[in-house]
Amino acid sequence: MTLLAFIRGLPDVPSVVEINVRSGPNTAYELRFKVPVGSADIPVVDARADDKGANLNGKVYQWLQLRFPNGQSGWVRDDLIEISGNGIPFGYPNLFTRTFAFSLTRAASFSQPAPAAPAAPAPVAAAPVPASPAPTIQPVGVVQPVGVVQPPAPAAPVAPAVPVAPVSPVSPAAPTPVTPAAPAPVPAMPSGIPTAIIKTQGAANTRTGPGSNFPRTGITLPRNGRYPILEVQREMAGQQYRWFKLNNNGQFLWIREDLVTYDGDTTSLGLPGDLYPSPMKENYWWVRGYNMPPNMDTGLVQHDGWDQGAATGEPIFAGPNGGLVVKSFQCTKCTEAQPNTLSQGFSLGDSRIFNDAGWGNGYGNYIIVRYTNDQLPASTRSFLASRGFGASAAIFVMYAHLQRRLVEENVVVGPGQQIGTCGNTGNSEATHIHLEMRASASPNFTGWFNVRSGVMDAVALFKR
Ligand SMILES: [Zn+2]
Repeated sequence: MTLLAFIRGLPDVPSVVEINVRSGPNTAYELRFKVPVGSADIPVVDARADDKGANLNGKVYQWLQLRFPNGQSGWVRDDLIEISGNGIPFGYPNLFTRTFAFSLTRAASFSQPAPAAPAAPAPVAAAPVPASPAPTIQPVGVVQPVGVVQPPAPAAPVAPAVPVAPVSPVSPAAPTPVTPAAPAPVPAMPSGIPTAIIKTQGAANTRTGPGSNFPRTGITLPRNGRYPILEVQREMAGQQYRWFKLNNNGQFLWIREDLVTYDGDTTSLGLPGDLYPSPMKENYWWVRGYNMPPNMDTGLVQHDGWDQGAATGEPIFAGPNGGLVVKSFQCTKCTEAQPNTLSQGFSLGDSRIFNDAGWGNGYGNYIIVRYTNDQLPASTRSFLASRGFGASAAIFVMYAHLQRRLVEENVVVGPGQQIGTCGNTGNSEATHIHLEMRASASPNFTGWFNVRSGVMDAVALFKR
């Protein structure tokens, strides 16, 4: 019995459809080729600890050398694979079922870094595997131009671009929340039925099948419209999102998951039923999703969170089980008249912003709330466990670009308590919240930049 690998990729980042195979046990080694997620039964021929000691929360990555059917071999990192079979020659136990390799600990005599492989450790710029903690320079809060409702995926399904509203700074005379427009009438839906609620800023396009390669139906669904979900499918290849099949009065339409939120009994459809709701209630819309290495291959701009748009002043609420405010930051360079960097002459994403604490490193006014393991949904806890986090793991959630902060540091917030209002502060060009999630093995908060970024899509904790 040999030890066999299965390429699992990053289940929480389904846009990653292939992983890198390198010439040695570190991300600095040459990229040899890529192997599709889902590839199975690939024999393991060697295993070594990351030879630069790269780790996730102190657990050093292990690399496995695999021999592929084409006769080539190369190294893959243990957070991207599952293994089964006789692991003993490599310091693993006998594994009778496929097991996430990163969750295993190799015997100490096996897990020391071996001498560096002879291949030249030429850094490869393309398609990095996430390895090191994020530097302090990182794009945060870059929103797309107002009116572009969807991420820049090819042939994205949103149709009518909403007319571009001028991005006007918050008037000093009107700091109070803007009264949102009356929501469209929402048809009643019996509770329990899995239901999608359209969360685009304007109407949402639909397609005849589960992918952007299917033709548009020509039918658009109104914002906040509610439709029963009949089926959920992954798009065939290359796309980050699932697709929902909706029943529009007997007509079957498909819509991409980021354009909707959902409620009802969705677990039988493979959608977690226990996630936190969006931090804003009805009056928000989807702007942009999570995009981090290694799915930088797609050419999308790095974005370590979600952007949800709203009117300035829209209330923002903590999670349903409460939490602890570990940071409540007032942007010192944000003014009422010129709340964001754009209005003060910077271009969006100017790197100076991210090193400037006066701008909140780009986040503007922000609040970070800690949710301990026992405050998290069961599905989030098992997600954390699958990524190697233990029972004392916590999640820190960044609520950024706020207009107002309503809670101070070290305050315990109750379930669903309002913590702030949606704004346009910092590196932002339109009113929105940037929602970013970082997980830590320990509940102790020692600073946002000490918690590793780029690990988790907010979809592991929040409904869109
Ligand atoms: Zn953002």
